[in-house]
Amino acid sequence: MHPHSSIAHASRRGFLGGAAALAAGATLPLGGAALAKAPLSNTQSGYFYRFMLGTAEVTVVSDGPLPLGDPGASFLGVPKETVYGMLENNFLAKDNVVLEQNVPIVNFGDRLVMFDTGMGFSKAFGPTTGRLLKSMAEAGIKPEDIDAIVISHAHIDHIGGISSQDGKPHFPNAQIYISQIDYDFWLDDARLGTPFKAFGEHARANLRPVKDRIVFFKDGQEFLPGVQAIAAPGHSPGHHIFRVASSGKSFAFLGDLTHHAILLTEKPRLEFAYDFDPKQAVESRVKLLTILADEKTPVMSYHFAWPGFGNLAKAGDGFRYYPTPMQMLRG
Ligand SMILES: [Zn+2]
Repeated sequence: MHPHSSIAHASRRGFLGGAAALAAGATLPLGGAALAKAPLSNTQSGYFYRFMLGTAEVTVVSDGPLPLGDPGASFLGVPKETVYGMLENNFLAKDNVVLEQNVPIVNFGDRLVMFDTGMGFSKAFGPTTGRLLKSMAEAGIKPEDIDAIVISHAHIDHIGGISSQDGKPHFPNAQIYISQIDYDFWLDDARLGTPFKAFGEHARANLRPVKDRIVFFKDGQEFLPGVQAIAAPGHSPGHHIFRVASSGKSFAFLGDLTHHAILLTEKPRLEFAYDFDPKQAVESRVKLLTILADEKTPVMSYHFAWPGFGNLAKAGDGFRYYPTPMQMLRG
């Protein structure tokens, strides 16, 4: 076959055969490597995504991917092969489960409210986390403009971005809203002698510098206009999710009610290695996901694949997550 094969020739040979023929026919520079007109870019778009909720504008910013390692060591309660099989069936890597850290910042018009804050200076899960401030800069949001930070629970990957390593608050004008149960639990000296020592240390490092700006919310309370707390204990003793509403529209910010769109969602009775009380976590997960699916309330999930916004429906013994397609045009 002539090296300058026509499209007709290529399609008769099948796509792969045609592509090979085209490659073989290309003129190769010295050394044998083909050079495109442009080098590989090795860049990505900014790590933020915007959508409207009623009359409020939501900007999801990322603290960066959080690799957990072997999924069989984190997702428990069934044989490891079941966990690996679920990932494989969904074309996901089974040697390393990678969680996102999706931080919604909601501009209600009169107030800028951020939900959770990422890992901050901790590198307990590697170098890819801790990019919250960078992502905010990419989105054009200034730290001093944040009025409120709402915390789902005091784990390292949710409170880590509140203060710098030398104890300075990153968000000088923000009130911090958290459950008193979680605050008291994670700042208790008793945590320092347990396997959760690092969690206790980071809760102190981040929350103590802002202790004068902390406000405790209660289960069911609409503690800010359009933001209601709903207790979801188990993963952490004071873990809460939040109903976020504007002009008749709403979503639920799920915090760590479920960490994975497949593993803890399709099988909500799986347990997670970092759960404080795995049985209670399962109970909260099944109860609240059922309510949200029945109501068809959209969800914004902290650890789901970027940007973490979608819907849930009941499916078998669990739930199926339907990510909402991203819309890149505005106006
Ligand atoms: Zn988390």
